[in-house]
Amino acid sequence: MMNTDFRELANGFIRQLTPYQPGKPLEELQRELGIEDAIKLASNESPLGASHVALAAGYSALNNAHIYPDGACFELKRALANFLQVKPEQLTMGNGSENVLELIIKSYLHAGDHAVISQYAFLTIPLLLQSYGTHVSVTPAKEYGHDTQALLAAITDKTRVIFLVNPNNPTGTYTTTAEFEAFMRQVPKHIVVVVDEAYSEYIEAEDYPNTLSYLPHYPNLIITRTFSKVYGLAAVRLGFSISSPEIADILNRSRLPFNVNSIAAAMGIAALSDQEHVKKTVALNRLGLIELEQGLTALNIPFIPSICNFVTVDVGDGKAIYETLLQAGVIVRPLHAYGMPRHIRVTTGTSVQNQRFLTTLGRIKESGIL
Ligand SMILES: *Cc1c(COP(=O)(O)O)cnc(C)c1O
Repeated sequence: MMNTDFRELANGFIRQLTPYQPGKPLEELQRELGIEDAIKLASNESPLGASHVALAAGYSALNNAHIYPDGACFELKRALANFLQVKPEQLTMGNGSENVLELIIKSYLHAGDHAVISQYAFLTIPLLLQSYGTHVSVTPAKEYGHDTQALLAAITDKTRVIFLVNPNNPTGTYTTTAEFEAFMRQVPKHIVVVVDEAYSEYIEAEDYPNTLSYLPHYPNLIITRTFSKVYGLAAVRLGFSISSPEIADILNRSRLPFNVNSIAAAMGIAALSDQEHVKKTVALNRLGLIELEQGLTALNIPFIPSICNFVTVDVGDGKAIYETLLQAGVIVRPLHAYGMPRHIRVTTGTSVQNQRFLTTLGRIKESGIL
């Protein structure tokens, strides 16, 4: 008998995959509860949204919706290269930075090769690695942050790529300039180092590394960034990497011909031109972090200090508190999938949203569940 079980016929790596669980959509919860004032602080989205300049560019680009996009993203790369002070040949554009992460895996990891990543690192990466049949060595975290010495110690002769998420989601921790520098010096030169910097624009810590400045010395370094977070363009899917031209050439060969659409490209160029909006977003986040951390301290609820646009909170039973918050119309992220069953992650919102979260959590605490 021929096997016609299309689950069994699938690639085993894919079959065994547990799909990534995104934050619960706002509309879904509002439908379920029959309410209209739910808030979502679950996906590290920007409470200010996109710049009006970017929105206008997007509307205008829709006029050419019938024309294929420029797959090479000439104008976008030129704007981005100019902004970052790198060469356009160093850039690879993607349908979100997760797309670029996939291009890296596809290009540099053959089935059976090893990749190294830290415990509690952004889950999309190990899931992508698993779908390509890569062996993943997960190194123990240090105080929830990446332990760069442990990452180095995990290197074997099969290791091809090391992933560093800086700052890390969902822990909000970061690798300092000194740690990064020592790490780069010790990584064997043939191993690709990927630094996922999805939140870099938010970071104001003095000792957060300027990784771009290391590119001339490290042709094995790839930095990934995104328009999804500080630029408020999560829905349009636009991310990129900065690397040596050699690596960018390879990544560009491995992408789909039209992986970035022209609406996203136009919005990206416009968003870059409005750095005032970025500043406003960063300033609002600074206030939000203070609000959340002070509020949690006042409630005597422990949290992991964060430099990002979210705070990870130790609520004892993450799933139970997540569910209870949901019933009150507040969506956060439970972290059991990360092996952090005690924690929830909450994104900084507007002041009103932050207060709503804190008040609701305070009430839950009073009721004795927390
Ligand atoms: C949000 C996030 C991304 C962004 O993914 P996109 O595909 O660009 O939306 C990447 N890495 C980390 C660590 C993130 O938290």
